[in-house]
Amino acid sequence: MTLWRPELLVGEPGGEPGLLPNFVGGEWVGGREFEKRSPVTGATIFQVAEASAETVDAAVAAAREAQRGPWGRLSEQQRAAVLRRVADELDRRFDDLVVAEVGDTGKPVGQARTLDVPRGAANFRAFADIISSAPTESFTTVTATGARALNYAVRKPVGVVAVIVPWNLPLLLLTWKVAPALACGNSVVVKPSEETPASATLLAEVMAAAGVPEGVFNLVHGFGPGSAGEALTRHPGVDAITFTGESATGRAIQRASADTVKAVSFELGGKNAGLVFADADLDAAVEGSVRSTFTNGGQVCLCTERLYVERPVYDEFVARLAKRADELPYLWPAEEAPGVVTMPLISAGHRDKVLGYYDLARTEGATVLAGGGVPSFGDARDGGSYVQPTVLTGLPQDARSVTEEIFGPVCHVAPFDDEDEAFALANDSAYGLAATVWTRDVGRAHRAGAALDTGIVWVNTWFLRDLRTPFGGMKASGVGREGGLHSLAFYSELTNVCVDLT
Ligand code: NAD
Repeated sequence: MTLWRPELLVGEPGGEPGLLPNFVGGEWVGGREFEKRSPVTGATIFQVAEASAETVDAAVAAAREAQRGPWGRLSEQQRAAVLRRVADELDRRFDDLVVAEVGDTGKPVGQARTLDVPRGAANFRAFADIISSAPTESFTTVTATGARALNYAVRKPVGVVAVIVPWNLPLLLLTWKVAPALACGNSVVVKPSEETPASATLLAEVMAAAGVPEGVFNLVHGFGPGSAGEALTRHPGVDAITFTGESATGRAIQRASADTVKAVSFELGGKNAGLVFADADLDAAVEGSVRSTFTNGGQVCLCTERLYVERPVYDEFVARLAKRADELPYLWPAEEAPGVVTMPLISAGHRDKVLGYYDLARTEGATVLAGGGVPSFGDARDGGSYVQPTVLTGLPQDARSVTEEIFGPVCHVAPFDDEDEAFALANDSAYGLAATVWTRDVGRAHRAGAALDTGIVWVNTWFLRDLRTPFGGMKASGVGREGGLHSLAFYSELTNVCVDLT
């Protein structure tokens, strides 16, 4: 059955909203409906079936049954073959997935085509390769009393994994977790954000078409507290939770899951610093900072919201950044343009939160060098959730708009005088997700890698990822690492087998 109707996604007022159901044990399941609105125009584009507590129970039960069945006993090579079929099916549905991501988020179609959707298939291919070649340990033990034994580790699935993801890069972040979970032989119950239900619903179709056994992939729609999200985190049948979202939500999930002792992997918020040294290629630093601040409307956990610039180049850098922010084009999502373009924030609620920070920054004494308000279009986009790309200066390091994650197209820029001060300013944060350093000094680049308390340090680049590398955050930015073998460490259990050799 194909429930998908891409023509409903354009976000034009007057379009007939489609219904997105849950997917449980291979069946489509309805529920009380809620509206999903287009960030571009504010028009309702979907009715979404919220999973009830009973539907969540049924999804967890279906996942448990499937995991204990033939799926959990497949060899790693057999599971890798299934993952490759999923990737092929994602390629086949490429255009539908682009429409889904663009419809739900209002992001530029060019970005969905080059980043969000291809990364979906890439995640499945990468983890098919990684599970196929993953090593396990073995040791021969000899004791003082003459005992000899062979120890070796056997990798096993964890069981049922709940996958709870946000709205900013919906398919990319969902597949980043589902692919390694399935590679390790788990079954999953996924809960996409209530703001981005479309690509996850398509992924359920993809799973069925690729021959993933019923019950291995289950989808429940809904909200967090008092809804499907919280029900999953408290459910005794869920063995592990992998979550990407706000740090405050991570704290709530940790509390809710404590009674049933679940393994957790958290990729949380950030307040990422960019450091621009006077020896940097300034053109590259300006353009790189435009990318790292304004890509995806600033709605990437890795986006830069604090820039620190060495004093000799501070004035020039700030003037050029503000000019570029003012120049960023406002396009309809379907229009194509090279480079960074603006896009709406995900919802009216999130737009109001970001505008609240623009006002707060003014109250705190900021100078607004670019943006600071909402654009006016004179067309249907006036009903959407756009804000202007914004550059702020003049705030103290402890201002709330310099310490709290805003998650919009905005950064604050401040000067520094030497390397030690730059590293100290960058580390002066409750968060520790990412940092970007612009310098031509190779020694300084390596010193930054050692000195900065973040899960990733980029040097003269931003948002470049190898799926085999560790990914995650320090401090309030996360718990654990995913990526490559680090994902396998979370999504599998190891049994050590100790065999007497005497
Ligand atoms: P959010 O925490 O509000 O929601 C994320 C998901 O959790 C959604 O599916 C939501 O329904 C669910 N949820 C909310 N409350 C819950 C609860 N009490 N129990 C269970 N589930 C609950 O985050 P968001 O606003 O969707 O996304 C933006 C945030 O995500 C930002 O803070 C951003 O930095 C972070 N993020 C982090 C990374 C990373 O890799 N570190 C990547 C992307 C986004």
